[in-house]
Amino acid sequence: MPLTDVETHLCDLVAARRDDLLAQLASYVAIPTGHGHRPGLDEFRRLLGTRLEAIGAALTLIDGAPRPAWLDLPGATRSTDLPPTLVAQRPGAAGLPRILIVGHLDTVHDPDGDFRELTPSSDGRTAVGPGAVDMKGGIVVAVNALEILVEAADRTGLDLGWTFVLNSDEETGSFHSDAALAAEAARHDIGIVLEPALPGGELALERGGAGQFMIEVFGRSAHAGREFAKGVSAVVALADVIGRLAALCEAGVGTVVNVGPLQGGLVTNTVPDYAACWGNVRFRDDARARQLGAAIDAMATGDGDTVPRVVVHRRWSRPAKPATPSVRWLAATAQTVAGDLGGALALSSTGGVCDGNILQAAGLPTLDTLGVCGGNLHRTDEFVEVESLVGRCRLLTVLLHRLAAGAATLASR
Ligand SMILES: [Zn+2]
Repeated sequence: MPLTDVETHLCDLVAARRDDLLAQLASYVAIPTGHGHRPGLDEFRRLLGTRLEAIGAALTLIDGAPRPAWLDLPGATRSTDLPPTLVAQRPGAAGLPRILIVGHLDTVHDPDGDFRELTPSSDGRTAVGPGAVDMKGGIVVAVNALEILVEAADRTGLDLGWTFVLNSDEETGSFHSDAALAAEAARHDIGIVLEPALPGGELALERGGAGQFMIEVFGRSAHAGREFAKGVSAVVALADVIGRLAALCEAGVGTVVNVGPLQGGLVTNTVPDYAACWGNVRFRDDARARQLGAAIDAMATGDGDTVPRVVVHRRWSRPAKPATPSVRWLAATAQTVAGDLGGALALSSTGGVCDGNILQAAGLPTLDTLGVCGGNLHRTDEFVEVESLVGRCRLLTVLLHRLAAGAATLASR
């Protein structure tokens, strides 16, 4: 299907911003937002809030929720800084689908390190920089797409409303913001997350889920030489627990239980009365998530005086994100747009998790890899494919336009 005149106009507006997209990305990449660096996160949030306000959004800051204390690893200092989540809401005309766009301001990069700027390659095809692809490029694409849709509203005849949520802790599990994300998800019809495209530019149709756990074992201490028999080693009991955890892995069906770090005992001549391990689980679907949860819960010994006593803490914080009929329809719509723009958009699945898992678990059909293309995520050679800033901005702008224009089609899903 060829593009309509209005869609061609939208694409022209994107193309006119070509140089500006890269300049914006360079300025955003230069703001350090890694490791909970509050001044950088606050500055980046403020800049984006100002731009979204200028196109009609009302801004609300939602206080960060505290993380469960058991998530803190040994030796970590507990952060009392709970970054807020920005909710920018543009009302728009009634009757159009309610679209939720989600991005994260944080990166994994050291705010005080050497990797701080966007550096284009000699041929200009790529540019290396912290967060360039994950996900400052995606944020640039989305903000420009929304600005263009407002700029072109006279031509499109569509006054599209949306909510743009920007959190600051996605890379550390979104524990400060997941309640805010789920609450917004429940109020919308379509979710879009600006995570980078999968390798080759693919769109993630489905994702596995993930969770965190911590297991504590309480034993009885005793002098290792004089009263060894009176002691009950928490470390030995934990070793047994770890063996049982490892036995839950079924790599063939995507069930992973990864254990580490560990803690146990303080000196060598005392039977240790405390040991703990932390871990991460991955699962392909809800049924396996429940099975895994039940098996790990069953390792707990209850609150009695049993020694050794085993206590399980866990949170399956990112449920699996299956390819539901609504998600398949959304993906097919994005594929049609990509095709009409003269490209292609292949579909794939991934074991990685993102905030899209949280949105979809709250009932919102979500496409979560509509950000830019690039690679080497989370490394100091992270790069963006420069042309994808334009290509992905075009894709998102036309996709949003069609989702609004085809509201009736969506409502019948
Ligand atoms: Zn990301």
